[in-house]
Amino acid sequence: MKPDNIRAGGKIGSSAVSGDAGASHVPVLLDEVIHWLAPRAGGRYIDCTVGLGGHLSAILEASAPDGRALGIDLDADALSLAGERLRPFGDRVVLARDSYRNLARLVRWHGLDPVDGILVDLGVSSLQLDQAERGFSFRNDAPLDMRFDRTTGLTAADLLATVDESELAAILFRYGEEPRARAIARAIVAERQRRPIKTTGELARLIERVVGRSGRAHPATRAFQALRIAVNGELDAIEAMLPQAVELLAPGGRLVAISFHSLEDRIVKQFIAEASRDCICPPETPVCVCGHRATLRRLTKSVVTASSAEVARNPRARSAKLRAAERI
Ligand code: SAH
Repeated sequence: MKPDNIRAGGKIGSSAVSGDAGASHVPVLLDEVIHWLAPRAGGRYIDCTVGLGGHLSAILEASAPDGRALGIDLDADALSLAGERLRPFGDRVVLARDSYRNLARLVRWHGLDPVDGILVDLGVSSLQLDQAERGFSFRNDAPLDMRFDRTTGLTAADLLATVDESELAAILFRYGEEPRARAIARAIVAERQRRPIKTTGELARLIERVVGRSGRAHPATRAFQALRIAVNGELDAIEAMLPQAVELLAPGGRLVAISFHSLEDRIVKQFIAEASRDCICPPETPVCVCGHRATLRRLTKSVVTASSAEVARNPRARSAKLRAAERI
């Protein structure tokens, strides 16, 4: 199937969002991304999560005058704003509305392989959190949607209406690390027998009734994270993308990943650790039988986090964790 792609500055679908592109999402760890990705003139770069194009415009500036880039995102509204913001770069950049789980196919379609750098900045953009009707936030009462791609798949409300109680408890526990997962799942199933749970406010109030309020974060924070990860199959998508990234990188090409919670960071960390080792046989194996050869060299010895000055300017940076590796 032909990827749904557009030139920067082009229009995608019938997006209702307009306005000051980029003003509502400040890219996190921007200096660190440029440092570790080290874009250069003539290079080819992929931004797997272009969002509002903050990182990608810095990558294009750093690879002037002729570096090229592909920006991918599932969200048509974000891509439309990114397209406006990246218009000055003309045909140096192409945007694709797709999932980064199809990374290899997209990059090959655009004839950009092998690539010199791949960035993935996981999670939700501030634009998505601020658009109440997307249903990512419980700050406003809005339909429980939570899909990055609003054209397909089940919404969070659909999931809550159909999932069995034990599976729901597993989702809340696994993806939200929610200690009260079982109690919340039981309450949701009891409630939906009376009436469907359709809005962020209904869900947030229900969870607050079950677990009460303590500490600074809203008691529904973990459950909202868990549902978003489940609705979008986020961890599977990361796991599917990382090996494709390695395959696409030229020797010396770099992978930079920013994650926002421990589940994502663990996947990235373990993937880089394993890909950086020559042998992955269990330690008790006397002689190597796996034949595994390192394909990556780890660049960040420990995880990179935002400075206190950046966190003060941009609270979203507080939980950001960056890791980088280079293709051997
Ligand atoms: N770096 C961006 C912000 C990215 S926010 C900037 O500087 O503006 C994360 C983005 O990832 C969101 O726009 C979200 O829609 C997108 N996203 C999440 N899962 C995705 C997937 N599987 N494929 C492509 N994009 C995805």
